[in-house]
Amino acid sequence: MMVVVFDLDDTLYSEVTFVYSGFRAVANFLFGIYAVSVIDSYLFMVKQLEQGRGRIFDETLQHFGVFSKKAVLQCIYVYRGHKPDIKLYEDSIECLKRLNGFPVYVVTDGNKLVQKNKLVALGLYKTMNFCFITHRYGVKNAKPSTHCFLKICEREKVEPQEIVYIGDNPHKDFVGIKALGFKTIRIMRGHFKDVVKPIEFEAQYQIQSLDVLTVDFLRKMK
Ligand SMILES: [Mg+2]
Repeated sequence: MMVVVFDLDDTLYSEVTFVYSGFRAVANFLFGIYAVSVIDSYLFMVKQLEQGRGRIFDETLQHFGVFSKKAVLQCIYVYRGHKPDIKLYEDSIECLKRLNGFPVYVVTDGNKLVQKNKLVALGLYKTMNFCFITHRYGVKNAKPSTHCFLKICEREKVEPQEIVYIGDNPHKDFVGIKALGFKTIRIMRGHFKDVVKPIEFEAQYQIQSLDVLTVDFLRKMK
């Protein structure tokens, strides 16, 4: 039986919904300490994001005349620590139901606290056999490192060919594990959906939705 491993952000849920959720938490925080309008600061942060600006909290605090280095750190603290209001994609929910009985895992990069809050909010600690937040094992073990994937081989007592990873980011999701013989599927959504990379970075399969990922599909994978 195949072991099915999922990436988290933009594979199982939409990452931008986490960002908006974080902005709402920061907007409420700014209202609480500086009486800045919640809706005004929220919309300002969204606009900064849409314009591709970095240092969004610096810009926001400056715009509303309440900038300090301490306030920036407080915003980051609120953003990272907040309880996110996020949901799994509909096709993720259906897919996980279909795969009931298969060993299922998550391997995700990113800030340890932030990723944990997302996994809790999405109920994935209950659904998955185990969720690997790669940064728990040191930054050097983030993707494309194969470290956490080999841990899954050990846990399940299987060879790489018996594990499939579904991710959205061709820059790092597939290149490391593909070389070891893990199976790979790229879901074409989120930030990277239009990115084209050399063949060694690309997944074996490209899918538009997790609806494609049926028991039959897994059985027929080469
Ligand atoms: Mg991702």
